[in-house]
Amino acid sequence: MKTMTCKQLGGACDKAFHASSFEEIAGMSKQHGMEMFQKNDAEHLQAMNKMQELMKKPEAMKQWFENKKKEFEALPEM
Ligand SMILES: [Zn+2]
Repeated sequence: MKTMTCKQLGGACDKAFHASSFEEIAGMSKQHGMEMFQKNDAEHLQAMNKMQELMKKPEAMKQWFENKKKEFEALPEM
C-alpha cells in the first residue's frame, strides 16, 4: 500500500488515501473530490476548477497524470 494526500493528487486538503495502484488512489481522490464538491468546500472547488482547465488540454492532462503516476510509483511501500 502507498499513501498520497488529497493535495498531492490535485486537491486541496491533507486527507491521506491508501491504495496499491495509482488508478485506485486516483479513483479515491476523485470520490473525495465529489463529496467535497457537494459540500461546496471553497478550496476543493477551486482545485477542481484548475483540474477542469487542465482537462480541456488532453496533452497537459496526460502529462499531469503520468507525472503523478511516477510520483506514486516512487513512493515507498507501507
Ligand atoms: Zn481534500
